[in-house]
Amino acid sequence: MKTLRVIQLCGQTVEVIEASEDECAELIGKDGVTIDTEGKVYIKAGLRADRHLDTYVHELLHVMFNLTGIGGALQGFLLMNDKRFAKVEEGIIRLLAPALITTFRAAGLMSEAA
Ligand SMILES: [Zn+2]
Repeated sequence: MKTLRVIQLCGQTVEVIEASEDECAELIGKDGVTIDTEGKVYIKAGLRADRHLDTYVHELLHVMFNLTGIGGALQGFLLMNDKRFAKVEEGIIRLLAPALITTFRAAGLMSEAA
């Protein structure tokens, strides 16, 4: 396991960790996972650079949904239970992550390499 970053967001500390499936069982069958209760994001070790970036942005969006309260507010607005809302959140983030990367690159806020 390797800590990639420690991020402060909304007064919370989030550690971004690169790990293998052996080191983090939650990564089995996934490229990344966010464990809100631990303040940790795990990204599978050995991903290609573009997939690593996609996963990194995707997982940070989950963190932002949680820590900013966007997720809770939206869930309350939609009157959904946790299981149903998790699917909505995942769908939104799957659309948003590549759009953010494309937009930020086009705006010159993110290089092609990152
Ligand atoms: Zn996700």
